Amino acid sequence: MKPFGYLRATSVEEAVRAAAGQPGARFLGGGTNLVDLMKLGVETPQLLIDVTRLPLDRIEELPDGGLRIGALVRNSDLAAAAAVRVRYPALSQALLAGASGQLRNIATTGGNLLQRTRCLYFQDISKPCNKRAPGTGCPAREGVHRDLAVLGHSDHCVATQPSDMAVALAALDAEVLLHGPDGERTVPVTDFHRLPGDSPERDTEIRPGELITAVRLPPAAPGTRSRYRKARDRASYAFALASVAAVLEVRDGTVRHAALAFGGLAHRPWRARAAEEVLHGAPATEDTFARAADAELGAARPLRDNGFKVTLARNLAVGVLAGLAAPDDDH
Ligand SMILES: Cc1cc2nc3c(=O)[nH]c(=O)nc-3n(C[C@H](O)[C@H](O)[C@H](O)COP(=O)(O)OP(=O)(O)OC[C@H]3O[C@@H](n4cnc5c(N)ncnc54)[C@H](O)[C@@H]3O)c2cc1C
Ligand code: SF4
Repeated sequence: MKPFGYLRATSVEEAVRAAAGQPGARFLGGGTNLVDLMKLGVETPQLLIDVTRLPLDRIEELPDGGLRIGALVRNSDLAAAAAVRVRYPALSQALLAGASGQLRNIATTGGNLLQRTRCLYFQDISKPCNKRAPGTGCPAREGVHRDLAVLGHSDHCVATQPSDMAVALAALDAEVLLHGPDGERTVPVTDFHRLPGDSPERDTEIRPGELITAVRLPPAAPGTRSRYRKARDRASYAFALASVAAVLEVRDGTVRHAALAFGGLAHRPWRARAAEEVLHGAPATEDTFARAADAELGAARPLRDNGFKVTLARNLAVGVLAGLAAPDDDH
């Protein structure tokens, strides 16, 4: 076992101060990803800053009708909160589609956003991997990549972002609130995760020493409905092969508002702007929904073994949008 320091932070300021200028420091949330990666030797922090005692575990109503979700709110508590189930059902459904009951009881909102890819080579320190060891190569491109990216990948990395929650947050226009050595800032969830480009070692735009303090949800627009659906190899306890989060408002048979995001397809939750353009103002029909999905997924560049994910994502998107457009369909 590699020795590491442990500090239980008692305030946000203390946590941020302790991490400042220490590239070997990691914040510890529920530990369900970080501790696993430490056991595998993928993460070797010199200092663990336990943030679980900070007062960031509340879900608060905002004056504008939105919600402020503390970074330490557990996944199970967030999924069960009445305000989330009623106003942002896609978020509750995404959380419940992730991991297992036991894991959701301990996993935090901040940690969930920053969980690392499940690419097999990333998790095996005997293998090269540009994300874990920059410059060593990407064996997944020619190797095992059935689960990996079809959109936005690069020669350097074809990994996918694994969080279900992040996909729903991207469709819901949520923002990440950060506190770091240079103060506080806010980043839209859609800009928080990165595409790999030539620096796949960076999953997100978070800066060294920054702590996620909360996620902010804008008010749910009146008349909109939202939904999350995930396709995976097993009915539970499996990461998404493809998933869809959608927010839709239909009035008089016409799409008035649409927000769509795909999961399991890229290095970040994939906000489907081209699909949304097709949807806005169009008749709420299956034909429109199929055209919208095709407009987005036309850009897909599948690898040797994962072309099936494009069809899967298309069918999920059409099904979810058709369900949201049907007034009596509440599944
Ligand atoms: C068997 C298994 C199956 C799973 N299936 C799914 C699934 O289907 N879908 C899904 O979405 N997830 C799944 N997960 C992943 C699970 O959701 C994540 O492990 C969990 O959400 C991470 O949260 P945590 O609080 O435990 O994070 P931690 O492990 O504590 O931290 C993860 C990362 O975030 C950093 N961090 C934590 N909190 C903060 C903060 N406030 N500010 C800045 N950095 C922070 C840590 O330093 C670390 O780098 C699965 C996990 C397992 C083990
Ligand atoms: S896809 Fe990314 S994470 Fe997987 S081996 Fe390639 S560089 Fe590493």
